[in-house]
Amino acid sequence: TSGSASTLQDYAKDKLSKQMVELFEACQQQACDLTRKETCRSRLQRDIQSVFPVARLYLTGSSMSGLGCRSSDADLCLVLQGSTQGSPDPIHILTVLQAFFRPLGYLEKIHLIRAKVPILRFREKGSGLEFDLNVNNTVGIRNTFLLRSYAYADLRVKPIILAVKKWARHHQINDASKGTLSSYTLVLMVLHYLQTLGEPVLPSLQKDFPECFNPSMEIDMIPEGPRHIPPYKSQNKSSLGDLLQGFLKYYSSTFRWDTQVISVREGKALPKNKSAEWRNKYICVEEPFERNNVARAVHEQMKFNTIKSKFAASSQILAQSKDLNALLPVRATI
Ligand code: ATP
Ligand code: MG
Repeated sequence: TSGSASTLQDYAKDKLSKQMVELFEACQQQACDLTRKETCRSRLQRDIQSVFPVARLYLTGSSMSGLGCRSSDADLCLVLQGSTQGSPDPIHILTVLQAFFRPLGYLEKIHLIRAKVPILRFREKGSGLEFDLNVNNTVGIRNTFLLRSYAYADLRVKPIILAVKKWARHHQINDASKGTLSSYTLVLMVLHYLQTLGEPVLPSLQKDFPECFNPSMEIDMIPEGPRHIPPYKSQNKSSLGDLLQGFLKYYSSTFRWDTQVISVREGKALPKNKSAEWRNKYICVEEPFERNNVARAVHEQMKFNTIKSKFAASSQILAQSKDLNALLPVRATI
């Protein structure tokens, strides 16, 4: 039909939306950034296979989902399966890898982080590229494909998510290790908002294409390349700026933190039931495959209050100024 918007410019006729496009174009990951990550991944996989012959190394996270910035780290999932019975202890594997990596010469600042999902963090010498490597946390491979599919379902998804990530980082509420929101949580919050608009910008892809996102699909069968879900034909023609404002407003006044759970899987907010996963949690965001709470890092009342007040203040400021610079220093961020 005629008049259907087909380029980002169609959603960016006003100043705020144009600023979002400018930020997006300056900050989004470039093809050469991904190539650098991929080259290092393949070298690491080759080296790791001399210790663990059946090991496979997968790039995950924003590097692969299309939701990354030039400065984003590279998340890696080491998949070890095969002959050994039971699941290997990730701390043990990472300790072995740490000792193996030290003399290789092309890595530096190698250290083990004993989080709920333990990771080995290191940098590539020269480029300074940062890596976070986990063992067998394969849900990251599944949800990266899901996020990638959402990123390509509508042109507006990537620029809005990038602006929200930059906003949250600038306001220091984007660090799960400090009790605030992980990037992954922020992404799910944006997708949820876009799914629940009166005229949705996004559907639930897991509902619409259950076979593509089957949680028991073999890891090797999960597409990572250009093959993806057809774009969603939304009737919602809101500009980038209106959607960013709507996002801040939704979490300032519409969403009920005390009674609702964000479910991108269902494409709507679910009521908090009495299960231990949601009880006494400040923020409840369902992992689309494992269905646990990805926002469990927010466990202090004070941090929760800070997050809410950032949403409220920024929502007000943006409604009045309609200027992205009032939310984050765009030039400095670029
Ligand atoms: P950035 O660009 O800031 O690095 P990111 O999109 O890579 O952001 P992270 O929060 O660093 O987001 O997470 C990286 C990846 O790890 C996610 O894309 C997801 O695949 C996986 N992940 C992170 N947190 C969880 C979680 N709680 N449960 C399952 N998977 C997770
Ligand atoms: Mg990352």
